[in-house]
Amino acid sequence: MCAAALPPASRLSTGSPDATLERWLTGPRVAGLPARDREAPPPQLSFEFFPPRNAALEAQLWACIRRLEVLAPRFVSVTYGAGGSTQSRTHATVARIVRETRLVPAAHLTCIGASRQEVDAIAQQYWEAGVRHIVALRGDPPPGEAYTPHPEGYAYAADLVAGLRRVAPFEISVAAYPETHPAALSPEADLDNLKRKLDAGASRAITQYFFETTTYLRFLDRALAAGITASIVPGIMPVSNYAQAARFSALCGASVPAWLGHLFAGTEGDPELRRMVGVVIAAEQVRLLQANGVDEFHFYTLNRPDLTYAIAHILGVRPPAGEGGLASSAGDRAGAAETD
Ligand SMILES: Cc1cc2nc3c(=O)[nH]c(=O)nc-3n(C[C@H](O)[C@H](O)[C@H](O)COP(=O)(O)OP(=O)(O)OC[C@H]3O[C@@H](n4cnc5c(N)ncnc54)[C@H](O)[C@@H]3O)c2cc1C
Repeated sequence: MCAAALPPASRLSTGSPDATLERWLTGPRVAGLPARDREAPPPQLSFEFFPPRNAALEAQLWACIRRLEVLAPRFVSVTYGAGGSTQSRTHATVARIVRETRLVPAAHLTCIGASRQEVDAIAQQYWEAGVRHIVALRGDPPPGEAYTPHPEGYAYAADLVAGLRRVAPFEISVAAYPETHPAALSPEADLDNLKRKLDAGASRAITQYFFETTTYLRFLDRALAAGITASIVPGIMPVSNYAQAARFSALCGASVPAWLGHLFAGTEGDPELRRMVGVVIAAEQVRLLQANGVDEFHFYTLNRPDLTYAIAHILGVRPPAGEGGLASSAGDRAGAAETD
């Protein structure tokens, strides 16, 4: 697949009738990914949504939730807008999930722009609404501004985790960064921070998304060497809009390898093709992770179910017989049209 991996002689000979034979004789042998053992339990999945800001996006989100619900995820999480801007929408979405679905919701909560007392009160409301799982984050300041903790707030996610433990016995997940958080003093300091969050009472980390599988696998090695034994669930972002993903990645410090751009090049005007390419890329990534023993995945769905559903299927996660038809496919199309 990659010309750079071939010996120089075979690189020179491309195009001649003998090129395939010569590559076969001189190139590396690449073993296929092992097929999943049909007896092995399928991996555990979780799905992330963002709270909708209008009625049309709300309909899209709920079509997405209904489509993915049948896959029985371990939990579904709902993000909290930058600067706490979606506080009421996050709460409303999580509360509706509790009321109207069989899903286990996890509410994202950040330290930004609120005192400890205010954050504790929000957490208490979640507990009273039946929410038992919080994804505890520092959050980001508005673009272009440096992070300054609220004078009476929780300064970092580790402080928030400790605060939440005082409010109620929540299950708590925290963020991890295989490529190191952009503001960290060093990769080691960032790992120390992850350990502090887990020691403060979080039970799992969910990673920022990444495209190079080895980046995540090396991160697991480094985390283990730093004494971290909690689960570090890979965050998977199926990409169907490369330009949008590249812009977003630049903001959050996730690197975009050149091969990803090459795979999407020429797909700009063809959303259906982009989705197919996106499924193949993410399916290859999760299968490679699965072959390396990873059996839990967190999907950044962007409120669109189709890619995540297809990748879950490939991973062996299927609805029980009789469930999971195409009832919501009209909603999926509407969502796809919105963001393509
Ligand atoms: C799975 C996931 C979900 C997310 N969901 C949301 C969301 O819903 N809403 C949202 O706004 N953002 C969200 N984010 C983004 C996140 O808020 C940002 O990446 C933010 O910049 C860092 O949050 P954190 O919880 O990792 O921070 P922290 O763990 O507090 O770390 C932030 C930075 O500060 C450093 N640091 C920590 N403690 C100290 C200290 N005592 N002194 C000096 N430096 C320190 C760390 O090394 C790191 O560089 C999410 C990220 C991930 C990976």
